[in-house]
Amino acid sequence: MQKPSQKEHLYKLLVIGDLGVGKTSIIKRYVHQNFSPHYRATIGVDFALKVLNWDAETVVRLQLWDIAGQERFGNMTRVYYREAMGAFIVFDVTRPATFEAVTKWKEDLDSKLILPNGKPVATVLLANKCDQGKDVLTNNGLKMDQFCKENGFVGWFETSAKENINIDEASRCLVKHIIASE
Ligand code: GDP
Ligand code: MG
Repeated sequence: MQKPSQKEHLYKLLVIGDLGVGKTSIIKRYVHQNFSPHYRATIGVDFALKVLNWDAETVVRLQLWDIAGQERFGNMTRVYYREAMGAFIVFDVTRPATFEAVTKWKEDLDSKLILPNGKPVATVLLANKCDQGKDVLTNNGLKMDQFCKENGFVGWFETSAKENINIDEASRCLVKHIIASE
């Protein structure tokens, strides 16, 4: 139950990145606490709601928008991005091409979505499938920090939807930046 003194925030968050990087799996793990190894392409727009008791005074409702199979085309419509407050851009550490696509996703996002204050939305980079032990891309953390700085990401995390690694942490990082910028 919400106490009368509590503040409530509702944030639309986007989860974007190439096909098969684990976007749907990350949302499922975060919201429903489960994981399925069976691949099923997302069809249609999918939403999931996650409620966070942020602190004693604040409840945060996250509306996570999964991609609707449009990642095949490498970009999204403005309608999908509209009114989002933050984004996760996901790549698969076992497939370098999905990392190369990250800057394209970031450019697509920033070209179609600007916050009312004129700034780009806070974006966190997720290096997913870190459980696979093939993490040649991010084993140099300094390089990733530099990449984030240069490309306007507020942070990056090695995640695993399979093993439930760092998904809560990544979300908290994103929400913290959104709250701080409001
Ligand atoms: P999407 O197309 O980006 O939504 O990707 P999916 O969530 O459908 O995942 C694509 C495939 O990768 C599925 O077979 C998942 O089971 C698998 N997968 C997703 N996340 C992970 C992970 O963290 N580790 C491993 N090992 N496999 C994953
Ligand atoms: Mg999907």
